[in-house]
Amino acid sequence: MATDANCIFCKIVAGAIPSFKLYEDSATFAFLDINPGNPGHALVIPKAHAVNLYASDDKDLAAVMATVRKVATAVEKTVTPDGLNLLQANGPGAAQSVFHFHMHILPRRLGDELKMNWGLKPGDKAELAALAEKIRANL
Ligand code: 5GP
Ligand code: ZN
Repeated sequence: MATDANCIFCKIVAGAIPSFKLYEDSATFAFLDINPGNPGHALVIPKAHAVNLYASDDKDLAAVMATVRKVATAVEKTVTPDGLNLLQANGPGAAQSVFHFHMHILPRRLGDELKMNWGLKPGDKAELAALAEKIRANL
């Protein structure tokens, strides 16, 4: 499986750096975003390293979407948002900041005023840990 020793998401998959893991299977890994736009903001990645959509393997993309559906359903059940966006960025002009393909699962509230540039504001670690446990229970 392709990996990149300098990639932060490859390190998360390998367990070399910690994450609030929600789910994994043979091809995909899901965890909470460390800078949540809203509570329950999660990321789903292929375990194989690919920098963006264009470089991704069709089978990995299909596996990622199946995990996105599964995890988004649990996030929806856990935080009961007013809506939920799926987002994915390719290249710096699209605000991609981690160059390992990932889908954002972003719960939304009516009037939350979130723009695409919600910024990187670190989440509270205890809140992230508690939420990850609740979402896992809903998987
Ligand atoms: P992008 O801007 O590339 O679409 O999104 C990358 C996302 O990865 C950002 O929302 C950022 O908060 C998240 N992120 C970056 N580094 C880490 C990390 O070490 N752990 C976790 N859980 N999320 C990260
Ligand atoms: Zn990677």
